[in-house]
Amino acid sequence: MINKIKGTQDILPSEINKWQDLEEVMRNVSKLFNFKEIRTPIFEASELFHRSVGETTDIVKKETYDFEDRGKRMNTLRPEGTASVVRSVIENKLYTEENLPLKLYYYGPMFRYERPQKGRQRQFHQFGAEIIGTDSPLADAEIINFAATFLKALKINDIKIQINSLGDQESKQKYMEALREYLKPNIKHLCNDCNRRYEENPLRVLDCKVDMDNPVLINAPKPLDYLSDEAKMHFDHVIMALEELDLDYTINKNLVRGLDYYTHTVFEITSDLETLGSQSTLVGGGRYNNLYKSLEGPDLPAVGFAFGIERLLLALEAINKEESKDFIHCYFLSIGDIYQTEALKIINDLRHGGIIIDYDFFNKNLKQQFKQADRLNPKYYLIYGEEEAKKRTINVKSTETKEQVEVDIDNLYQYLVNGLTNRSCSGGCGSCDGC
Ligand code: AMP
Repeated sequence: MINKIKGTQDILPSEINKWQDLEEVMRNVSKLFNFKEIRTPIFEASELFHRSVGETTDIVKKETYDFEDRGKRMNTLRPEGTASVVRSVIENKLYTEENLPLKLYYYGPMFRYERPQKGRQRQFHQFGAEIIGTDSPLADAEIINFAATFLKALKINDIKIQINSLGDQESKQKYMEALREYLKPNIKHLCNDCNRRYEENPLRVLDCKVDMDNPVLINAPKPLDYLSDEAKMHFDHVIMALEELDLDYTINKNLVRGLDYYTHTVFEITSDLETLGSQSTLVGGGRYNNLYKSLEGPDLPAVGFAFGIERLLLALEAINKEESKDFIHCYFLSIGDIYQTEALKIINDLRHGGIIIDYDFFNKNLKQQFKQADRLNPKYYLIYGEEEAKKRTINVKSTETKEQVEVDIDNLYQYLVNGLTNRSCSGGCGSCDGC
């Protein structure tokens, strides 16, 4: 037997409702904030991620799925969504003045070769959003508010918004120099990876999962202390907007996030729900003002976030949110030979009218058909035999009230619609009490 690849997951029919419920909330909240969906390919030229996520990040260094295609080009399964959105916006020239700011969201599978554990997989799903073409601090606040509103709509209330600023390129550069100086005498106390990171990009030392509680890192200089006046003003305005929006936040001076493209605001929303274990970050994001330029696009400042869907589902498990239960409108039970009667046509006509209906393929007896019907949770049993066929009627039995009514086939659709929408008949079904 061939098994699924380590770190991947089948999403089975028994679990699909919780995914689809979440996707519905995602689309509704995106509409509320006026974001449009963009769908990009799941693989791209490897260079795109090397140049955006960053050569020195763990993601590019150790985690991408790279493969050479038959034309000897290097491709990579996308490890995140922003780089592809940037590529697509530039390539499709979506940035005309009247389009800006662009408010886009994406949803789909991402791939990282990480050590699989609860809430951490090799194929996982992200929902991300980006506001492109404005450096207004209001856009940073809008993105954070969008993320928080999405969580609220999912009824995940127990959250912490942590925010920090890395400043503009100039502040970031100054900070990196200070960090390099500070780490120089201490780096030997940190892990091997940190020693490598120190050489390549000292900021990445702060992402270390091994040494994150090491006093060397805890006491390291903080980006906030190196902000230029302009960067500080930007951050102050973001904070003012968050206050205005009544969003509870804490400034986490150690937050840097593991992707190279961030400038100014970075943020994470975490949750202490116990089902998440050590993977408490539900969403991460920030501003990236130089990415478009660095990928040969126009000068488009942008800000965005990405949610991990599997982690959201773990969080939802903890708060016991009820997922919607499967149901169908009708189960059609036929007595006798289905080919001899109008049964298939009746079923098909009802489907064309929007009635969810299923029936037996196995020629089961009536008792077995009831059993199968009950597995599918119908609102009505439709019971149809030769007698009914002769009279052109059908017996409709409500699974809730257990009431059974014989209805003319010609009135069946209207009868079901009235019952399913809980409206009393407006006249014409010919079968209800009022007719
Ligand atoms: P990042 O793209 O690294 O900023 O991550 C954004 C969000 O994606 C994280 O907060 C997680 O919720 C989720 N995430 C990242 N990596 C994984 C993974 N390997 N498995 C599951 N979720 C992940």
